[in-house]
Amino acid sequence: MPDMRPTKRLYFDDANLCDFEARVIAVSTTQTGQPAVVLDATAFYPEGGGQPADYGVLAGVPVVDVQEADDRITHILADPVEIKVGTTVTGTIDWRRRFDHMQQHTGQHTLSGAFWRLMGAETTAWHLGVDEVTIDIARAGLSDDQVREIAIAANEVIWQDVPVTADVYTPEQLESLTLRKGTERSGLIRVVSVGDWDRIGCGGTHVTSTGQVGAIGIRRVETRGMQSRITFLCGARALDDFHRKTFLVNDLIARLKVPMSDLEAHVERLQQQLSETRHDLEAARLKLLEYEAQDLLTQAQAQAGPYPVIARRLNSHDANELRTLAQQIAANGGIALLGAVTGEKAQLVFACPKDAPYDMATILKATLPLIDGKGGGQKNLAQGGGAGLALLDEALNRAFNAVIG
Ligand SMILES: [Zn+2]
Repeated sequence: MPDMRPTKRLYFDDANLCDFEARVIAVSTTQTGQPAVVLDATAFYPEGGGQPADYGVLAGVPVVDVQEADDRITHILADPVEIKVGTTVTGTIDWRRRFDHMQQHTGQHTLSGAFWRLMGAETTAWHLGVDEVTIDIARAGLSDDQVREIAIAANEVIWQDVPVTADVYTPEQLESLTLRKGTERSGLIRVVSVGDWDRIGCGGTHVTSTGQVGAIGIRRVETRGMQSRITFLCGARALDDFHRKTFLVNDLIARLKVPMSDLEAHVERLQQQLSETRHDLEAARLKLLEYEAQDLLTQAQAQAGPYPVIARRLNSHDANELRTLAQQIAANGGIALLGAVTGEKAQLVFACPKDAPYDMATILKATLPLIDGKGGGQKNLAQGGGAGLALLDEALNRAFNAVIG
C-alpha cells in the first residue's frame, strides 16, 4: 500500500528554515525521466497561490520544480538519483530565491491592504513573476497620485516593522475575525496578519516582520477593463531597479550634457528637431528628384507623338524614389519607363501623362514575366518588382517598344 499521508509543510511553522531532514515516502519518474520524490515533510514551497516554487537541493541533486496535489508535495529533481522509500534524505532550499519570494509576497499583502483600507478596492488577482510582481485591483481609472499615496501608506507599514504572523483558525473562530477577503476553503484556515493592517487567508511564505520587505516601489499602473493592474517591486528587486534606472539616467545626463531637471524637456526638443529635420530632408529629396526628372527629360531617347520617352535603368534609387521620379516626368509631359535593382529585387515603374493614349498597367503586365515580378497599377502609373534581375534591361526595351510601336 503506498503511503498517502499529506506532506507536513515545515515552511508553515518556520519560513526561515533552509535545511531539513525528511523520510522518503514515494519515488516515481516523470515523463522526461526526472525523479519525482514525495517526503513525509518538506521546507520546499510548492508552486501555488500566486507564488512560484522553491528551488534548492534534495539528496545532493538540484530541485527544479515543486508541485502539490491532494496535499502531497512532489519534488522534481534535475537528474536521476538512487533514492529509496523509507530512507532519510536532507534538503536545502535556495534561500536567496525564497527570501525574494517572501519579500515580494509580504509586500503584496501590505500593498493590497492599503488599497483595501484607503479606497475599499479589493485585490482580485496577484502574480509573482521572474522580473515583476502585479496585483489586479477592482477599480478602474486610478491616477498616478492616488497610487503614489497608497504606496506611501503601504511603505509606512513597512517602516513601522510590524510583526507578520500566521495562525490557524476553525471556521467558527473565523467568524469573529475581519478578513480583507473571504475564503472559500473549508476546515482549518491559515490566516496571515500584517500587524493590525491586513488579515487574509494565505498558504504562502512571508517574512516575520514588515521591515524585512525593505520597500515597495510602484512601476506601472494600467487600466484593464473595470480593473487596474499595479506592477511593483519589493526589497532587493526595488533596490536593483533603482540602481539600474539611476545609472541609466546618469548616463543620459552625461551624454546629453543637461541636468536631470531638464532631461524631459531636452528629449522633447530633440524629438521636435528630428521631426523638422526629417521633414526638411523629405522636401530636399523631392526637390532633387524634380531636378533629376527635368534632366532626364532633356535626355529623352525618343518621341511618341508629343511625349518624350525616357526608358532608363537607375540603380541609385529605391522603389519609392523611382515612383516619384516617374510621376515627375509624367507631370512634365513625358513617358517614364524606369527600372532599378534595389537590394535583391528588380523594380519597374511606368508612368505617362493622364491624357496620353497608353495603358501603363497593360505594358507592365507584358514585361513583369521577364523579372519574375508581381505588380499592377492604373492607366497612367504602374509599378512592379521581382527577383529576376538578369532580364531587367530587356523588360525596359520591351516597354519602350510597346510605347514607340
Ligand atoms: Zn501570503
